Amino acid sequence: MTPAPLGLLLDVDGPLASTETRRVPDEVLDRLAALGRRGIPVGFNTGRSVEFLLRHVLEPLRERGGLDGTPFYGISEKGAVWFPFSAVPAGEVPPVDDREQVPDWLRRDEDMVIEPDLARAIVQANDDHARDLQPEDRTKLAMVSFEMEVGADREEYEPARDAAAQAIEAMLAERGEDGRIRVDPTVISVDVEHVRSGKDLGLERCRALMAEAGVPFPDRWFTAGDSRTDYAMADALHEQGVQVSHVDVRPEDGVPERPYPVITAADLAERGFGDADDVHEQVGASLLAWVLSELSEGGHDDHDGAAARN
Ligand SMILES: [Mg+2]
Repeated sequence: MTPAPLGLLLDVDGPLASTETRRVPDEVLDRLAALGRRGIPVGFNTGRSVEFLLRHVLEPLRERGGLDGTPFYGISEKGAVWFPFSAVPAGEVPPVDDREQVPDWLRRDEDMVIEPDLARAIVQANDDHARDLQPEDRTKLAMVSFEMEVGADREEYEPARDAAAQAIEAMLAERGEDGRIRVDPTVISVDVEHVRSGKDLGLERCRALMAEAGVPFPDRWFTAGDSRTDYAMADALHEQGVQVSHVDVRPEDGVPERPYPVITAADLAERGFGDADDVHEQVGASLLAWVLSELSEGGHDDHDGAAARN
């Protein structure tokens, strides 16, 4: 089997899903489906739950007919749970939100699961400071996460988030768990996770699933994300000698020095895809359109690439 000309390893919140509405726009889904039809390997590498990936990515792609035999992989909760899309049973998929009963098509690293007793203490510490502003995301199967209520006032949210994160950190330190479990606050959430969690671990999971399925690992990859931590995907690929470019969809903190190309909305706009001041999923949509057009120019032409180009 010859490898696909390229692979994509994508953070979901930010480059694909709106951080405001949490939805993946139709144009992004259409382009992912087009990539699937071309057999391009795509790893969805997220801190979100499997449940989120199922409802917001897998099901809409199935509806588009973009998933038959495609090498698409879900890596959730920063590498603690993972699965090939092809393993998810056909038809309606029941909710995957019970830590006690993980379906057999799903892999979970049991060492990374936060135990029930500790999980309860973490939830308590959050709720003391931010219960209504950032309730627990009960779909997580390994980590414990709290997420900003959609529509919450940011000025009210941010100090509550920080207070909750500090309280959780203090509790973990008191219990001597701070070397094993860490707290990671983001723009819209607080994740409490095993220290092994990370986007580089997501790459490992993706590689393992591809190897198992006999899907050759492409020589060229694009990674995308909206956080500094997402660079870990490209860092690891580069270290492995793979040709990688990272797309930073929200480079407002500045683009760090890296030994591989970092692409922003401005670069994509220069190539004719999107606008220089686009952020988040708009940039993701432009990246996918650009990749589709590159594939067409590389002699893999079909109607999907042409349609995605605008
Ligand atoms: Mg993100």
